[in-house]
Amino acid sequence: MNKPASKETVLPRAINHFVNGKEMNGTSDRFGDVYNPALGEVASRVAFATEAEVAAAIEAAHKAFPGWAATPPLKRARVMFKFKELLERDLDKLAAIITSEHGKVHSDARGEVIRGLEVVEFACGIPQLLKGEYTEQIGTGIDSYSVRQPLGVCAGITPFNFPVMVPMWMFPVSIACGNTFVLKPSERDPSASIHLANLLKEAGLPDGVLNVVHGDKVAVDTLLNDSRVAAISFVGSTPIAEYVYRTGTAAGKRVQALGGAKNHLVVMPDADLDQAVDGLIGAAYGSAGERCMAISVGVVVGDIADKLVEKLAERAASLKINNGAVGDPDMGPLVTKQHLDKVTGYVDKGVEEGATLVVDGRGLKVEGHESGFFLGGCLFDNVKSDMTIYKEEIFGPVLSIVRVPDFESAVKLVNDHEFGNGVSLYTRDGDVAREFSTRIQIGMIGINVPIPVPMAFHSFGGWKRSLFGDHYAYGPEGVRFYTHLKTITTRWPTGIRKGAEFVMPTMK
Ligand code: NAD
Repeated sequence: MNKPASKETVLPRAINHFVNGKEMNGTSDRFGDVYNPALGEVASRVAFATEAEVAAAIEAAHKAFPGWAATPPLKRARVMFKFKELLERDLDKLAAIITSEHGKVHSDARGEVIRGLEVVEFACGIPQLLKGEYTEQIGTGIDSYSVRQPLGVCAGITPFNFPVMVPMWMFPVSIACGNTFVLKPSERDPSASIHLANLLKEAGLPDGVLNVVHGDKVAVDTLLNDSRVAAISFVGSTPIAEYVYRTGTAAGKRVQALGGAKNHLVVMPDADLDQAVDGLIGAAYGSAGERCMAISVGVVVGDIADKLVEKLAERAASLKINNGAVGDPDMGPLVTKQHLDKVTGYVDKGVEEGATLVVDGRGLKVEGHESGFFLGGCLFDNVKSDMTIYKEEIFGPVLSIVRVPDFESAVKLVNDHEFGNGVSLYTRDGDVAREFSTRIQIGMIGINVPIPVPMAFHSFGGWKRSLFGDHYAYGPEGVRFYTHLKTITTRWPTGIRKGAEFVMPTMK
């Protein structure tokens, strides 16, 4: 990373920026390597945008804003309808791009594209969503109405783990609301965003409405400090989310910043154990645990723990792990060598701190992919709340089991954690489920559902240090985030004349 390009070496394919309707070469000599994680090889490289390149993207969005904001919502919706058709056409192509740079298996990558596409479907309803409210006769001869208007240039800064879905939590809603957009995707898997920008152009989006610049902190800081940017949507790790929130709001911007997570799945003694095991295995190891809604802690209540751990161990040890582009494995590699080392370091730390490593996935080699960034499923038992592997987000295929004596201890454990993204409860008891949903301090809750990601017509967001800001992502919350509310009060000259009034008008 960050190496100056040497003229002698044959450089891999370069990934372009997309500004004002055109792909553009990056001019910077700072760039990042983009890997095929299953092969462990550099597949392409991405130039990190300079301040001037980011400023040019902001300027393109700024210039495009008045025309796009004035475009009737129905016409904006038609672009979204066309975009949806093109996404369906290119579903496999997009999934293949995701797998090649992120590593997740093809079927899971398809699922990611579809969850993004559902936000586009939601955005197709923008004429209805932007309909205001009208009250006749708020006073004699006076009417009042409220409308929602776009903010201006919005920016999105997104993480590596969903290179299609997370950007599509943002720009379809923002653009449908009449804003223009600058996306700064993850530098680890940047290609999919350029494909999306080209599809929107093909769908008829005017130049400058969606722009993509690649890069690192330089690009992010330029977006945070440019006065032409009205709002920032961020998704990524908590330290960066907090930084983006503080810096962006201090610069007078509207900011929503979604951060990290440590999601628990609580298993009550009356739960269907096989269902709970299925839930834990899929949610802990799917996408190699690189999901912000992955379950990384199983909380087992009462005396069912031995039985549950035995069943989990069998399943975790027999996960099919391979190149996500070949066959249909359960999980693929981690995104980079650096991330593999970080996750492996957490497993080492768990052993050092005294947790019981029941299944050890370290050192896994996949035939024909010996340099790939693979880690087998890891399962810890007897994890305690003061251990590093419990407190910190690992973001890999590592499941920690914490044993607790009763329901109260489970609620306290979940509520005391600094993160509050998702949680799940497995039980057959409706009273317990209701009590849990009421008292738990978490944004998204599943009852016998392991990964309760809200659909596109609801909204996504966590509590505590999993979200900074007042609005959740996409759905109705997204429309509120990307629009200003304006209320107009009207009286016409034919109405009753009262003369000048010097006191607060009130209804008599
Ligand atoms: P990350 O925080 O490293 O990067 C996210 C974005 O911030 C990237 O675009 C990156 O270029 C940029 N960035 C990184 N360092 C920066 C810095 N110092 N200054 C300014 N910008 C910087 O996150 P990641 O590793 O790409 O993604 C994984 C994280 O994202 C996990 O913590 C995961 O929980 C979180 N995540 C959260 C949600 C959610 O909805 N809450 C969804 C997906 C991922």
